[in-house]
Amino acid sequence: MKLSVIKNIHGTIEVMTGLHIGASKETIEIGGLDNPIIKDPLPGSNAPYIPGSSLKGKLRSLYEMKEGRYTSKGNPCDCAKCEVCAVFGTSSSKRPPELGPTRIVVRDAHLSEKWKERFQKGELPLEIKYENSINRITGIANPRPLERVPAGVEFDFFISFRVFDTDPKDAENDYMNVLFKSMRLLQLDALGGGGSRGCGQIRFTNIQIDGEQKGADFLESIKLN
Ligand SMILES: [Zn+2]
Repeated sequence: MKLSVIKNIHGTIEVMTGLHIGASKETIEIGGLDNPIIKDPLPGSNAPYIPGSSLKGKLRSLYEMKEGRYTSKGNPCDCAKCEVCAVFGTSSSKRPPELGPTRIVVRDAHLSEKWKERFQKGELPLEIKYENSINRITGIANPRPLERVPAGVEFDFFISFRVFDTDPKDAENDYMNVLFKSMRLLQLDALGGGGSRGCGQIRFTNIQIDGEQKGADFLESIKLN
Protein backbone atom coordinates (compact mmCIF):
# COMPACT_ATOMS: atom_id res chain seq x y z
CA MET A 1 0.00 0.00 0.00
CA LYS A 2 1.11 3.52 -0.77
CA LEU A 3 0.32 6.79 0.96
CA SER A 4 -1.76 8.72 -1.60
CA VAL A 5 -2.20 11.98 0.26
CA ILE A 6 -2.35 13.54 3.71
CA LYS A 7 -5.50 15.60 4.11
CA ASN A 8 -5.64 18.49 6.55
CA ILE A 9 -8.87 18.97 8.39
CA HIS A 10 -9.05 22.03 10.55
CA GLY A 11 -11.46 24.52 12.00
CA THR A 12 -12.85 25.85 15.23
CA ILE A 13 -14.15 24.14 18.34
CA GLU A 14 -16.66 26.43 19.94
CA VAL A 15 -17.43 25.87 23.61
CA MET A 16 -21.20 25.95 24.05
CA THR A 17 -21.35 25.05 27.75
CA GLY A 18 -18.48 25.22 30.28
CA LEU A 19 -15.73 22.78 29.32
CA HIS A 20 -13.86 20.80 31.96
CA ILE A 21 -10.92 18.70 30.83
CA GLY A 22 -9.28 17.75 34.08
CA ALA A 23 -5.59 18.00 34.83
CA SER A 24 -3.86 15.04 36.38
CA LYS A 25 -3.46 14.97 40.14
CA GLU A 26 0.31 15.54 39.95
CA THR A 27 -0.12 18.96 38.41
CA ILE A 28 -2.39 20.29 41.16
CA GLU A 29 -0.63 22.88 43.28
CA ILE A 30 -0.87 22.79 47.04
CA GLY A 31 -3.78 24.95 48.09
CA GLY A 32 -5.02 24.91 44.53
CA LEU A 33 -8.43 24.10 43.30
CA ASP A 34 -9.60 20.51 43.65
CA ASN A 35 -10.71 20.06 40.08
CA PRO A 36 -8.53 22.23 37.84
CA ILE A 37 -8.53 22.00 34.08
CA ILE A 38 -5.48 21.11 32.06
CA LYS A 39 -3.34 24.07 31.01
CA ASP A 40 -0.47 24.60 28.60
CA PRO A 41 2.74 23.93 30.58
CA LEU A 42 4.74 26.24 28.28
CA PRO A 43 6.35 28.88 30.51
CA GLY A 44 4.30 32.06 30.51
CA SER A 45 1.34 30.39 28.88
CA ASN A 46 -0.82 28.53 31.36
CA ALA A 47 -3.64 28.83 28.82
CA PRO A 48 -6.33 26.20 28.73
CA TYR A 49 -6.17 23.81 25.79
CA ILE A 50 -7.76 20.60 24.57
CA PRO A 51 -5.22 17.74 24.42
CA GLY A 52 -5.34 15.87 21.12
CA SER A 53 -5.57 12.64 23.12
CA SER A 54 -8.77 13.82 24.86
CA LEU A 55 -10.36 14.81 21.58
CA LYS A 56 -9.30 11.66 19.76
CA GLY A 57 -10.34 9.40 22.64
CA LYS A 58 -13.80 10.90 22.85
CA LEU A 59 -14.33 10.75 19.08
CA ARG A 60 -13.30 7.12 19.06
CA SER A 61 -15.36 6.05 22.05
CA LEU A 62 -18.53 7.65 20.66
CA TYR A 63 -18.07 6.02 17.29
CA GLU A 64 -17.44 2.66 18.94
CA MET A 65 -20.52 3.03 21.13
CA LYS A 66 -22.62 3.90 18.09
CA GLU A 67 -21.35 0.85 16.20
CA GLY A 68 -21.22 -1.46 19.23
CA ARG A 69 -17.58 -2.05 18.52
CA TYR A 70 -15.74 -2.23 21.82
CA THR A 71 -14.45 -5.16 23.82
CA SER A 72 -16.60 -7.09 26.31
CA LYS A 73 -14.71 -5.29 29.09
CA GLY A 74 -15.58 -1.90 27.60
CA ASN A 75 -12.10 -1.27 26.25
CA PRO A 76 -11.38 0.17 22.80
CA CYS A 77 -11.77 -2.22 19.89
CA ASP A 78 -8.59 -4.19 19.27
CA CYS A 79 -9.78 -6.46 16.47
CA ALA A 80 -7.15 -4.90 14.17
CA LYS A 81 -9.52 -5.42 11.23
CA CYS A 82 -12.32 -2.87 11.38
CA GLU A 83 -12.53 0.76 10.23
CA VAL A 84 -12.19 2.04 13.82
CA CYS A 85 -8.90 0.23 14.27
CA ALA A 86 -7.77 1.52 10.86
CA VAL A 87 -8.70 5.14 11.51
CA PHE A 88 -7.95 5.51 15.24
CA GLY A 89 -5.28 2.87 15.56
CA THR A 90 -4.83 -0.18 17.72
CA SER A 91 -2.25 -1.30 20.18
CA SER A 92 -2.84 -4.82 18.99
CA SER A 93 0.31 -6.61 17.97
CA LYS A 94 -1.90 -8.53 15.55
CA ARG A 95 -2.36 -5.42 13.41
CA PRO A 96 -2.08 -6.87 9.91
CA PRO A 97 0.05 -5.03 7.36
CA GLU A 98 -2.95 -4.50 5.05
CA LEU A 99 -4.68 -2.39 7.72
CA GLY A 100 -1.82 0.07 7.38
CA PRO A 101 -0.85 2.75 9.87
CA THR A 102 -3.27 4.74 12.03
CA ARG A 103 -5.02 7.16 9.70
CA ILE A 104 -5.53 10.19 11.92
CA VAL A 105 -3.25 12.44 13.87
CA VAL A 106 -5.19 14.70 16.23
CA ARG A 107 -3.19 17.72 17.39
CA ASP A 108 -3.70 19.60 20.62
CA ALA A 109 -6.34 22.29 20.12
CA HIS A 110 -5.13 25.65 21.43
CA LEU A 111 -7.06 28.87 21.93
CA SER A 112 -7.85 30.69 18.68
CA GLU A 113 -5.83 33.90 18.03
CA LYS A 114 -8.63 36.10 19.33
CA TRP A 115 -9.02 34.14 22.55
CA LYS A 116 -5.27 33.77 23.03
CA GLU A 117 -4.99 37.56 23.04
CA ARG A 118 -7.87 37.92 25.42
CA PHE A 119 -6.37 35.30 27.73
CA GLN A 120 -3.00 37.09 27.74
CA LYS A 121 -4.74 40.35 28.63
CA GLY A 122 -6.55 38.61 31.47
CA GLU A 123 -9.89 38.87 29.72
CA LEU A 124 -10.64 35.18 29.81
CA PRO A 125 -11.46 34.38 33.39
CA LEU A 126 -11.92 30.68 33.90
CA GLU A 127 -15.17 29.76 35.51
CA ILE A 128 -15.55 27.93 38.80
CA LYS A 129 -18.72 25.94 38.88
CA TYR A 130 -19.86 24.56 42.20
CA GLU A 131 -21.58 21.23 42.07
CA ASN A 132 -23.40 19.77 45.01
CA SER A 133 -24.06 16.30 46.14
CA ILE A 134 -26.79 16.17 48.73
CA ASN A 135 -26.76 13.79 51.64
CA ARG A 136 -30.04 11.91 51.41
CA ILE A 137 -30.51 11.74 55.18
CA THR A 138 -29.22 15.02 56.53
CA GLY A 139 -30.06 17.06 53.44
CA ILE A 140 -26.68 18.73 53.75
CA ALA A 141 -25.09 19.80 50.50
CA ASN A 142 -21.48 18.97 49.83
CA PRO A 143 -20.26 21.47 47.26
CA ARG A 144 -17.18 20.80 45.17
CA PRO A 145 -15.63 23.26 42.77
CA LEU A 146 -15.10 22.47 39.11
CA GLU A 147 -12.95 24.71 36.95
CA ARG A 148 -14.28 25.25 33.42
CA VAL A 149 -13.52 27.11 30.23
CA PRO A 150 -16.55 29.35 29.85
CA ALA A 151 -19.04 29.16 27.00
CA GLY A 152 -18.17 31.15 23.90
CA VAL A 153 -14.43 30.43 23.94
CA GLU A 154 -12.95 29.06 20.71
CA PHE A 155 -10.10 26.63 20.07
CA ASP A 156 -8.42 25.82 16.75
CA PHE A 157 -8.38 22.12 15.92
CA PHE A 158 -6.14 20.30 13.44
CA ILE A 159 -6.49 16.72 12.29
CA SER A 160 -4.24 15.14 9.68
CA PHE A 161 -5.72 12.28 7.74
CA ARG A 162 -3.61 9.79 5.83
CA VAL A 163 -5.21 8.32 2.73
CA PHE A 164 -3.74 5.16 1.24
CA ASP A 165 -4.23 3.90 -2.30
CA THR A 166 -5.89 0.71 -0.99
CA ASP A 167 -8.47 2.52 1.19
CA PRO A 168 -12.15 1.91 0.32
CA LYS A 169 -13.40 4.44 -2.21
CA ASP A 170 -17.10 3.99 -1.50
CA ALA A 171 -18.20 7.24 0.18
CA GLU A 172 -20.46 5.51 2.69
CA ASN A 173 -17.60 3.40 4.00
CA ASP A 174 -14.91 5.94 3.43
CA TYR A 175 -12.52 6.04 6.36
CA MET A 176 -12.80 9.79 6.49
CA ASN A 177 -16.52 9.40 7.06
CA VAL A 178 -15.68 7.56 10.28
CA LEU A 179 -14.07 10.76 11.48
CA PHE A 180 -16.95 13.00 10.37
CA LYS A 181 -19.52 10.70 11.97
CA SER A 182 -17.60 10.74 15.22
CA MET A 183 -17.39 14.56 15.08
CA ARG A 184 -21.14 14.74 14.56
CA LEU A 185 -21.67 12.37 17.50
CA LEU A 186 -19.43 14.53 19.69
CA GLN A 187 -21.61 17.56 18.95
CA LEU A 188 -24.57 15.53 20.21
CA ASP A 189 -22.61 14.36 23.26
CA ALA A 190 -20.02 16.20 25.35
CA LEU A 191 -16.29 16.67 25.63
CA GLY A 192 -14.40 16.41 28.93
CA GLY A 193 -15.83 15.81 32.38
CA GLY A 194 -19.32 16.40 33.72
CA GLY A 195 -21.04 15.85 30.37
CA SER A 196 -24.09 14.30 31.97
CA ARG A 197 -24.35 17.39 34.19
CA GLY A 198 -24.31 19.92 31.40
CA CYS A 199 -20.59 20.48 30.84
CA GLY A 200 -18.69 20.19 27.60
CA GLN A 201 -21.18 20.81 24.83
CA ILE A 202 -19.12 21.89 21.84
CA ARG A 203 -19.60 22.67 18.16
CA PHE A 204 -17.22 22.26 15.24
CA THR A 205 -17.43 25.31 13.00
CA ASN A 206 -15.51 26.79 10.11
CA ILE A 207 -14.45 23.31 8.95
CA GLN A 208 -11.90 23.27 6.14
CA ILE A 209 -10.53 20.24 4.32
CA ASP A 210 -7.28 21.03 2.55
CA GLY A 211 -8.26 24.69 2.61
CA GLU A 212 -11.68 24.06 1.12
CA GLN A 213 -14.32 25.65 3.30
CA LYS A 214 -17.24 23.40 4.18
CA GLY A 215 -20.74 24.76 4.70
CA ALA A 216 -22.19 25.38 8.16
CA ASP A 217 -24.37 22.27 7.81
CA PHE A 218 -21.51 20.00 6.74
CA LEU A 219 -21.52 17.76 9.82
CA GLU A 220 -25.34 17.71 10.02
CA SER A 221 -25.33 16.31 6.46
CA ILE A 222 -23.24 13.28 7.53
CA LYS A 223 -25.52 10.27 7.89
CA LEU A 224 -25.18 8.43 11.19
CA ASN A 225 -26.80 5.22 10.00
ZN1 LIG B 1 -11.48 -3.02 15.46
